[in-house]
Order: sequence, then C-alpha cells, then structure tokens
Amino acid sequence: MIRLTCVGTGTAAPSPSRVQSAHLVETGDVRLLLDCGSGVAFRLANIGIDWSGITHVALTHFHPDHMLDLPTLLFAWRWGQLPPREAPLEILGPPGTQGLLERLAAATGDDMLSLGYPVMVRELEPGAEATIGTEILLRSRKVPHTAESVAYSVERGGRRIVYTGDTGHDRALGEWAAGCDILLAECSLPDELAIATHLTPRRCGELAAIAAPALLALTHFYPPVEATDIAGQVAERFEGPVSLAHDGWTRLIEDR
Ligand SMILES: [Zn+2]
Ligand SMILES: [Zn+2]
Repeated sequence: MIRLTCVGTGTAAPSPSRVQSAHLVETGDVRLLLDCGSGVAFRLANIGIDWSGITHVALTHFHPDHMLDLPTLLFAWRWGQLPPREAPLEILGPPGTQGLLERLAAATGDDMLSLGYPVMVRELEPGAEATIGTEILLRSRKVPHTAESVAYSVERGGRRIVYTGDTGHDRALGEWAAGCDILLAECSLPDELAIATHLTPRRCGELAAIAAPALLALTHFYPPVEATDIAGQVAERFEGPVSLAHDGWTRLIEDR
C-alpha cells in the first residue's frame, strides 16, 4: 500500500494554518518527500511524522515555497537528532537541482551536502523515470510554470499518485495523469486572479475531467481562493470525488 500525507498545503503567502509545499509518500522501504517549502520541517514534527526517516526528497521546481526547508532538514539530520543520521539521502529534481543545492550550501557557509551522511543528487530530465528504493517508479513531466518545473508520477504495484507541483492548465498533463488513484493538484487562485502559470478551481476541474482520477485532492491555496466555493466550482467540470487537503491530510491506497 501507499500512504500519501499532505504535510504543507500553503503557498508563498504566510498562513496561520498552512505551511508551504510538501507531500510525503510512504511505501515499503521508501519515505519520499515531494517538495520541501518553508515551515515543512516544523510541520513534520507537529503532525507526528518521523522526519528522521525520510529517505528521498524530490523537488518539482526551485521557487522558495517548494524548497526552502531543505537546508533546515539537512541540518536537522546532523544536529537535530541523536545519534546523527547515517542513512543515505537522495535528492531528486529537474536539471539544475545540483547547482541549486551547491548555491544553498555556499549561502549557509557550511557544506550541507556533507554533514556526515551520504547525500546523492539525481537530476531527472523531464520525461525520464527513476526507480526509488526497490519498488517505486518516479516519473516526471514538464509543466507550464517555471522553465524547470515538473509534475511527478509515483507508481507502485499498479497504484499511482500524480502530483502537479505548480502548474498552469495543460491538457497533456491531464492525459498523462489518466486513471491515477490520486491526482494531487495545485489550486492557487480564484478566477478573477487567474494567470497562465497557476490553476483555479475550475481549471482543476477541467484537468480532473481529463485525468479521471479516483480522487482529486487539492493543495497550494492562496488566501483569496479559500474565500471561494472551491468544491462547487470544481464540480462544475469534474463529477468525481474531491478533497481539499490541509496540513496533515492523509490517505492510504491499498494494494490491488
Ligand atoms: Zn508554489
Ligand atoms: Zn512555483
């Protein structure tokens, strides 16, 4: 089975109830964190997740609200636990991830990539796939947000979670996600603030109508969209089940 936990469902806008983006996928020997925005290290502890056991981190893109707590966690694994971490960590991301990590390491004045436990970095070309642990297949797909932005598909045993990361509307993304068990989609903005590089509730509905997931889960809510009838607007376009995730929201997908 696969467990998905939305750790952070917020955005660049500071929120009293949502930290920035991160979602944890746990299955078998893998604990994969998708994105790692500000506040995520705190929230992992706050919702009772064993943050010391994370095995992989995969970044969708390099906006601060998706990666700024990576240094926090890298430091926590060395200085925030006893005994310090020895297990290897793998960081995955689109091309440019290695350079990003080197710049972050230079900025923190310490080599956060060599703190006593092995850190491997694997850059995935959009469209490429990687085996994670022994059983998970991670695939990425380019999405319209920033130049490097990708969505991820996490697959194991015939089950599949697709996480859009940040994205604008893209029909091909919906087709790529077709038939997944959970489509975890960003839902940033209301119609009146719509831009080409983020989704609105109606755009989420359109994406889900193409993908037809067993469940559409929404995340990455800027405050103005939360003042709208998100579920009602999604339902205009998508008839299936919809969940509005919150920090700590979790779902278990049983094996087939
Ligand atoms: Zn974002
Ligand atoms: Zn972004």
